[in-house]
Amino acid sequence: MPELPEVEIARRQLSRWTAGDVVREVRVLDAAAIRHKRSTMPRDAHPDGVRALEAAVVGRAADEPMRLGKRLGWTFGEAPRGLQLHLGMTGQWVRRAPADEPPRFAKLGLVLDGRTLWFLDSRRFGCVVPSEDVPRELAEGLGPDAWLNPPNAEELGYLLRGRRPVKVTLLDQARLAGVGNIHAAEALWRSGISPERAGDDLTPAELARLAEELPAQLDEAIRTQDTDEFQYVTQGGENPFSVYGQHRCPRCEGDVAKLAQSGRTTWWCPSCQQ
Ligand SMILES: [Zn+2]
Repeated sequence: MPELPEVEIARRQLSRWTAGDVVREVRVLDAAAIRHKRSTMPRDAHPDGVRALEAAVVGRAADEPMRLGKRLGWTFGEAPRGLQLHLGMTGQWVRRAPADEPPRFAKLGLVLDGRTLWFLDSRRFGCVVPSEDVPRELAEGLGPDAWLNPPNAEELGYLLRGRRPVKVTLLDQARLAGVGNIHAAEALWRSGISPERAGDDLTPAELARLAEELPAQLDEAIRTQDTDEFQYVTQGGENPFSVYGQHRCPRCEGDVAKLAQSGRTTWWCPSCQQ
């Protein structure tokens, strides 16, 4: 599932591929991918989706796409109106030549001069949502962005407060926006902190390490994964991570362990993470 780095990469791609140009028309192959609210369900299809999508984008120049946490939004010369773009579990935007066949799993396309940007999704959790106030809807219910506004050690201590395991609280988007299962595990591994520790029990030195390693992890993921056709690890892409989905710890060569936390699998190294 896309986390902050993957969504930031999608944002940069859309920015590069549109470069402020005008959307000439839309091509809609699956109208249920246009929804009336942020939803993973095709049954929340917008009742008049094609028309709403056309009204939001056709004949308009693309502004710079915006991201907050794992959310992506886009306005087209009429801010704050525009679209929310949800990648869901497996959603992705790609660029193709206008004469090319729509790619496999294509749901809809934005046609610009000389290229079409397609939204693909093999599982139908992703969507676009015509929105009256994109920045407000993006920010709704979210804490600070973990990469644009990374908390210092003291702020992180406050955000992680409580008896919940630190890994679980890191995934709480209302506390800190953008970190998901993969990058929480990676940042804790880099910081040498066990995912089971309660937020309240982290020492100032541990908080300082985590405050440094968390944005560093996100930064590195953005730099290493920013290619034109990025492939999710869960979809057969190469695994660039240190503990997530791995068997051997690259630091101590010990076995990587798995743990169930709030219904998600946490990968970690019991000898490096105390
Ligand atoms: Zn280790």
